[in-house]
Amino acid sequence: MTANHVDNQTDPVPPVPHASGGPALGGHADWPANRGRRFFTAQDADPHALDGERIAVIGYGHLGRPFALNLRDSLSPRASVLTVGNVPDEYAGQARVDGFTVLSIGQAVASADVVLILLPDEVIPEVFVADIAPSLSPGAAIVFASGYNLAYGLIAPVPEIDVLLLAPRMAGENARQRFLHSEGFFAYVSVEQDASGKAWRRLLGLAGAVGILQAGAIELDARREADLDLFIEQTMGALVGLSIMTAFTVGVDAGIPPEAMVMEMYMSQEMEMVFRSFREEGFYRASSVHGPTALYGGFVRTMQFLPLDLGGLFRQVLAEIQTGQFARQFQAERKAGYPMLRQAEALSSGDPASQPIGRAETSVRTMLKSS
Ligand code: NDP
Repeated sequence: MTANHVDNQTDPVPPVPHASGGPALGGHADWPANRGRRFFTAQDADPHALDGERIAVIGYGHLGRPFALNLRDSLSPRASVLTVGNVPDEYAGQARVDGFTVLSIGQAVASADVVLILLPDEVIPEVFVADIAPSLSPGAAIVFASGYNLAYGLIAPVPEIDVLLLAPRMAGENARQRFLHSEGFFAYVSVEQDASGKAWRRLLGLAGAVGILQAGAIELDARREADLDLFIEQTMGALVGLSIMTAFTVGVDAGIPPEAMVMEMYMSQEMEMVFRSFREEGFYRASSVHGPTALYGGFVRTMQFLPLDLGGLFRQVLAEIQTGQFARQFQAERKAGYPMLRQAEALSSGDPASQPIGRAETSVRTMLKSS
């Protein structure tokens, strides 16, 4: 059997055990540089792939906890041993409350064959050098949930270990909830280094056990995963946020009630439905269901905004990501004690009542509760 896959003469992809057949991903002629992208589902994973493997989840945080809980629910305790490695803090306390054996990071790595490194991306380089690399056994596998450190050369794994990417497209708590509802969640996966000869087997076994293959996994290497993730966060993500803040300020200044502004933009759920219809009906086709006024207005305003040359700005952002400039900047931010990140956190975790937009949201929630 072969996985769903796009043929590529020049860039062969290693064979995958237990791979299923089915339609190719990216089958369009204009899909650029099809590099053997494959789409994996539950039937591609051997349910016994992790039998006899000792697994360590390093970092019991936003993603570490859901992954550890999902793995424990999926794997037979007789076949696989699961431990958590964490610094002594409240996350370690939570892992003990959840019933896991918690070791220091070095001890957990030394006692494992498969090591999931679920620490904040910018923290990984120093912990990798100090606690992870010295404790890894030859033939072990290290698994990352983001391509960041591999893509921008921030760590240098030795050739004797497997290096795997299992990068979910879902926030941690949702990954747990979707697993519990048997819905799964999508992820990008790749084998970056296969020292053991069983890297794919391990990777797909893990992807199945954490719940990814209930939805599906797309093959994408760490470099592209990291570029893509940062690019969308820093372009589309940034502009959605800026649009919401700008529209709120301009609308309220012009006399539109703040509650109506947040209701219009997201509290009514209309916008969620718009994104849902992008997924279900297609990006362009979905626009037509909002009627001629919305379609005409959106079209002429898009034309009006075109000279802003967003494409040029986006290309500049992508170039800064691809050259590693952003990663260097973020590592310097960490070294300096996170001055910019602290400002962003203050905005996102501050008292909602201190911001007009937060007050409007609270007011709408109160209104909805009392109705
Ligand atoms: P968290 O911020 O939740 O941190 C994870 C763990 O790292 C915590 O236990 C934390 O403990 C520990 N930690 C932080 N600093 C250090 C340090 N200096 N030394 C040792 N341990 C430390 O991380 P996430 O779960 O958000 O991210 C983990 C990985 O998963 C990243 O690669 C991320 O890109 C990826 N990912 C995350 C998603 C998410 O939903 N969060 C979704 C998809 C991918 P403490 O803070 O107490 O030190």
